[in-house]
Amino acid sequence: ERTDKKAYEEAQKRLKMAEDDQRNMLPELRKRSRWEYLKKREEEKLEDLDAEIKDEEYLFSSDNLTEREKKDLEYKRTLRDLAKDYKSAGAREQEERKNRYYMPEEKRSKDVPQRDLELEDTPLELGGEQGRWEEERLRTAALSFGAKRERELGVQQEQDRYQLILEEDEMINFVSTQEGPSLSQADLKKQSMQEVRRSLPIFPYREDLLRAITQHQILVIEGETGSGKTTQIPQYLMEDGYTKGGMKIGCTQPRRVAAMSVAARVAEETSVKLGNEVGYSIRFEDCTSERTVLKYMTDGMLLREFLTEPDLASYSVVIIDEAHERTLHTDILFGLIKDIARFRPDLKVLVASATLDTERFSCFFDEAPVFRIPGRRFPVDIYYTKAPEADYLEACVVSVLQIHVTQSPGDILVFLTGQEEIEACCELLQERCRRLGSKIAELVILPIYANLPSDMQAKIFTPTPPGARKVVVATNIAETSLTIDGIIYVIDPGFCKQKSYNARTGMESLIVTPCSRASANQRAGRAGRVAAGKCFRLYTAWAFKHEMEETTVPEIQRTNLGNVVLLLKSLGINDLIHFDFMDPPPHETLVLALEQLYALGALNHLGELTKLGRRMAELPVDPMLSKMILASEQYKCSEEILSIAAMLSVNNSIFYRPKDKVVHADNARMNFTVPGGDHLVLLNVYNQWVESGFSTQWCYENFIQFRSMRRARDVRDQLEGLMERIEVEVVSAQGDCVPIRKAVTAGYFYHTARLSKGGYKTVKHQQTVYVHPNSSLFEEQPRWLIYHELVFTTKEFMRQVIEIDSSWLLEVAPHYYKSKE
Ligand code: ADP
Ligand code: MG
Repeated sequence: ERTDKKAYEEAQKRLKMAEDDQRNMLPELRKRSRWEYLKKREEEKLEDLDAEIKDEEYLFSSDNLTEREKKDLEYKRTLRDLAKDYKSAGAREQEERKNRYYMPEEKRSKDVPQRDLELEDTPLELGGEQGRWEEERLRTAALSFGAKRERELGVQQEQDRYQLILEEDEMINFVSTQEGPSLSQADLKKQSMQEVRRSLPIFPYREDLLRAITQHQILVIEGETGSGKTTQIPQYLMEDGYTKGGMKIGCTQPRRVAAMSVAARVAEETSVKLGNEVGYSIRFEDCTSERTVLKYMTDGMLLREFLTEPDLASYSVVIIDEAHERTLHTDILFGLIKDIARFRPDLKVLVASATLDTERFSCFFDEAPVFRIPGRRFPVDIYYTKAPEADYLEACVVSVLQIHVTQSPGDILVFLTGQEEIEACCELLQERCRRLGSKIAELVILPIYANLPSDMQAKIFTPTPPGARKVVVATNIAETSLTIDGIIYVIDPGFCKQKSYNARTGMESLIVTPCSRASANQRAGRAGRVAAGKCFRLYTAWAFKHEMEETTVPEIQRTNLGNVVLLLKSLGINDLIHFDFMDPPPHETLVLALEQLYALGALNHLGELTKLGRRMAELPVDPMLSKMILASEQYKCSEEILSIAAMLSVNNSIFYRPKDKVVHADNARMNFTVPGGDHLVLLNVYNQWVESGFSTQWCYENFIQFRSMRRARDVRDQLEGLMERIEVEVVSAQGDCVPIRKAVTAGYFYHTARLSKGGYKTVKHQQTVYVHPNSSLFEEQPRWLIYHELVFTTKEFMRQVIEIDSSWLLEVAPHYYKSKE
């Protein structure tokens, strides 16, 4: 407690300091396009060098220079010339580029079939699909139509490119005559599930592993993705009696989709109904029962179980899987589980990880032994692009088609950063395949991302029909969490979506950033599971070496800790500064989380949990959302706030905007507009859907995604169920939207922005932000507004905004605003 109090005082100081230097906080990595970034760096380097050389030449005539200085100047000149050469070579390549891929030096001469390298490359605009859409909206808003011609030109170029594919009839022959890698898929299908189980790399080590688990309380298990860690180890443990007497085995996954999919697979392998002996538990969805002894769950869910069962007494084994992902929740689990393992000697702890950094886990868990499962991995050839790709989405689409027509059989896995991109990519592929018709073999296009409904998720595992090729377009989830058999080709644009957090301002946003080298290597590895494979990296070898970080920064160091701090506080862990972190979060982040919770009223000035804080911790949502829900009690609008909270939780996937019906979709969306802001629009959508009797047809007619709505309803039901526990009566504001907006303000006053001459600036830190073009307030520009989240795509956009009255700020958060305003 005392430490936390000190931390507060420090926080005050730091925050003061922070306010002074907030203007230039956009780090270089926020540049969406690596190409742009690269160009800029090259140019800067050149300019700097040029300037330096000129200075020196001017200051000293070369006679006056010492030997050393002469050498130095000479060196700089050489550097400059090299840089110039590099630049012009780059430009040349950009122009002349015919070959999309080349092999890294050491493999260059070997087996590069010329046939690979046919497609002409035409870089389109920067920024990808999302950027294009944003730009489009921004441009139409500014009444400028200059882009139209450009787009027509783009279409022409695209058509030229098809001709390349189509004219090369030979190329297709070439493919069909080439001998493909021996896919055992047909055989695999014939094998019984038990045989499949026995064929996994982990199987020969079953007895050794079980013995090691008996001998050690904590064991780190390292194995290549797909070796059977997640699906097999819990089954071995069940077979070995670890679930006798109803004791449970828990296995955590960082991702919801993985927890669901793996549980389904294991239920199938053990011939039980999902939700009986084998089940899963993810936020807002509990698929377990009294009988469940093997429980797959997200790491966040296990964390919440500490609230009801602080010693995890009902578990005999806890498996922290995908430990290398280093998600925030996994990192916190490490500390908590290490702690309870000390006074629960009967509890077995397994830390499972892909082949990354396992020594660190061992070290953290007091030198726990590492059990290595020798991997089976076929060689993967890696190809890079010769020059950076301006539009990686477009490049993905072209690459898929290129592989499809030039390469031997085998499925393709494409890594993109999120739902929007994946949907755009799938649409583009479908459209082009349709146009190519029977000229190409069938291409089965399947997306996979977190919000995809589970029946669609399951599809990626179904074997590819003979003669066809499957392409799975996935987020990071396919990097290590899910193994899809039959993948031979991987396309890796080298990006991922990451949370980024500014510990000084407390601003968190989602940013598309270059992924790490470790990630890129994991991705490439996916191509070599069933046979020798190929990985096509849509970036240069130079970028791989020089622009990517070695490993991904653990989430704990780049995220808001409010949620976790609240949870730990309610577990009675008060001294957070000395919590056993594997990698401690930045001091400022921790302090800021404490400060925010204080501002929200969840902690008192001593850093202790208040009654409000205790109630907030009961809700499985972020502190601000939690506060908003609790504030609805005072403003007598919990009915509406619950719907809004549920709609906000389904992640911007409410409105559906098919490419061929953009106008209809936009009109339909416009019809939901009500004054006040997006939260109220969401409420309106939800209410109308309720009135329609939760109708699918209604969704269809109004371009609303039925599945998202269904999910929102589930979330709402769950939250409503929790209202009783936190003693909030569910009442309606009866059509008055002021109390609703006030309740939102009570939760999100940290996210206030104000319109001034230069546009919107956040109130606390004067950060420039923009209303997202999707927002109902995009053209209204009210003076004061509150945003739900910030997303960085082409700009720092506020998504889901609501208009407020500035006087409410003082009303809802007097201790926060009185010092400032
Ligand atoms: P690891 O955890 O070591 O990465 P897994 O246990 O997830 O490995 O995978 C082992 C095998 O089980 C893989 O061959 C994978 O293809 C298969 N598998 C896993 N989940 C499913 C699923 N939902 N459907 C079909 N096969 C699956
Ligand atoms: Mg796994």
